[in-house]
Amino acid sequence: MTGNRELELYFHIPFCVRKCLYCDFLSGPGSPEEERRYMEALILEAEARAEECRDFLVTSVFLGGGTPSTADTAQLEALLRSVRTSYRLAGDAELTIEVNPGTADGEKLRRYRAAGINRLSIGLQSADDGELRRLGRIHTWEQFAETYREAREAGFSNINVDVMSALPGQSLESYLGTLEKVLSLAPPPEHISAYSLILEEGTPFFEMAGKGLLELPDEDTDRAMYHETKRRLAKAGYGRYEISNYAREGFACEHNCGYWRRREYLGFGTGAASLIHNTRFQNCRDRERYVRDPVGCREDVQVLSVEEQMEEFMFLGLRLTEGVSLEEFGRCFGRSMEQVYGEVIRRKIREGLLYRPEEGKLALTELGLDVSNYVMQAFLLT
Ligand code: SF4
Repeated sequence: MTGNRELELYFHIPFCVRKCLYCDFLSGPGSPEEERRYMEALILEAEARAEECRDFLVTSVFLGGGTPSTADTAQLEALLRSVRTSYRLAGDAELTIEVNPGTADGEKLRRYRAAGINRLSIGLQSADDGELRRLGRIHTWEQFAETYREAREAGFSNINVDVMSALPGQSLESYLGTLEKVLSLAPPPEHISAYSLILEEGTPFFEMAGKGLLELPDEDTDRAMYHETKRRLAKAGYGRYEISNYAREGFACEHNCGYWRRREYLGFGTGAASLIHNTRFQNCRDRERYVRDPVGCREDVQVLSVEEQMEEFMFLGLRLTEGVSLEEFGRCFGRSMEQVYGEVIRRKIREGLLYRPEEGKLALTELGLDVSNYVMQAFLLT
């Protein structure tokens, strides 16, 4: 007997040509032998977990990293074959791979398409080669443009491009230049993720900033970049559907929306997180340990209390500009949102941070989106 509970799958492929200076993701270079053993471990883990997912219908698969496009294509194909054999994939499932320019040529991209991958997420970050160099990226704008052109030729009709603002040495003008270059691609991408650089502890950038060696845009320029992103992308026909994500009609990322709506998901690979049966856990972060025992490396298993589930429902759901559904809240928890959060909601509406976009919905206002972290704190119950 099989049900139709929805599930998302995430595969973490931690290999990168070299480490970017701002990056604190679980990623880094690996030898071809390490990569081969890791990919085999991923397949083993995927097959071993399939039994616990018999009742689920997989709505999206996301190959993230790291730089999945550095992986051997035959091994990626084997992984996707194994996923198709072991899991029930929805006919219209979204299959995304993250690609970095300079790591995927036309041949690779055609093989991804033939393997059923229907969405690409390309890490550009900046169209300015000086900024790219300062970030420690391995590619130039030209290499990005070449990858993008080849992706279109390979038949990809759903492409995301990542851009970043508040970079060292970046002016408002050069950031707008990046947006303009991305928007002038032919045809322009269906989706744009626009994040502001965050200095993460443990990264070379963090250390350099501590020593006063990073020339970062001042706060006013940073805010201007943020506001210009919204203005420019709206003018170009992109809807802002999440704090940092913009898409043309019908191209919001299904996988990420599922995450914000608390759809259940299983993460495979080092450090990959999962949420299933209201339990969160993470795989070990140690690559060697993972490869030795990809099935027995779950850590930090946390069964969520009802209060924690309610908090997550609000924190994650409010990131989406469509907001959260009052009816859905009641259905999930057997109590109305008014009963649990009535007082907080009224206060935040008075402050101009929340509003009701339509009957039965609650969402952050423009101002609320700008200060979302502050608003979310008010929804803490524990
Ligand atoms: S390519 Fe991405 S994951 Fe790899 S080091 Fe750079 S930012 Fe990190």
